Amino acid sequence: MGQGGGDYKKWLTWPKDYPEEILNIIGLLKTNLEYQKALGIRHIQLTQQTMQSFKDTLSEAHSIQLEDVRKELGDCRRCKLHATRKNIVFGAGNQRANIVFVGEAPGRDEDIQGKPFVGQAGKLLNLMLEAINLRREEVYICNIVKCRPPGNRNPQKDEIEACGPFLTRQLEAIKPRIICALGTLATQTFLKTEESISKLRGVIHTYHGIRLIPTYHPAFLLRNPYKKREAWEDMQLIQKEYEKIRGK
Ligand code: SF4
Repeated sequence: MGQGGGDYKKWLTWPKDYPEEILNIIGLLKTNLEYQKALGIRHIQLTQQTMQSFKDTLSEAHSIQLEDVRKELGDCRRCKLHATRKNIVFGAGNQRANIVFVGEAPGRDEDIQGKPFVGQAGKLLNLMLEAINLRREEVYICNIVKCRPPGNRNPQKDEIEACGPFLTRQLEAIKPRIICALGTLATQTFLKTEESISKLRGVIHTYHGIRLIPTYHPAFLLRNPYKKREAWEDMQLIQKEYEKIRGK
């Protein structure tokens, strides 16, 4: 590099908007190397583990944080659902979850409490998680739209379009390895299709490189308990994939 090569200074300059945290890390690294040089140490060996932890630190510092996404959402009035909501239901759970469950929209109980899946459907979701040895604190749960549609109607296209970027940013912050889309609307929104959930479930899809596993919405299962058998198959599929990524 350098001799006979291109002008390395061109690519060595940092972009002006480089996050302050990364500049701090680089500064610390530079100071540490200069200190080692002063001690007469001319060679350092970086183990795989050290490199990985350096990469993790850099990626952590560079990544979007969920609280930033929440701040950006603010007291959102980007779509008409703001007029009838009591609370924005942003999402809840582990900010570094490997699995994110995404429903379509908050219902009445969620709107009152400002938390996702807290009503009867939430209780069923807890049981579904427990059945595959997952706890709510271990996963992240949110919805396609963050405000309750009046009378629990389906969210409309313009509402999904207005709220969608915040879901994308949430997923960018969490970086899950698996997304479970709960119900027709969530699945169709992720996969940009109008195919029915019964045709889409039972298969692992991909959404921006993340495994996407659809299943029935717990509220639908409460009304159609005979579909629980298929939902159980989907949960087992999630469990199998989860164990794979955890190296079990
Ligand atoms: S549904 Fe989303 S976009 Fe619409 S007002 Fe609520 S937070 Fe904003």
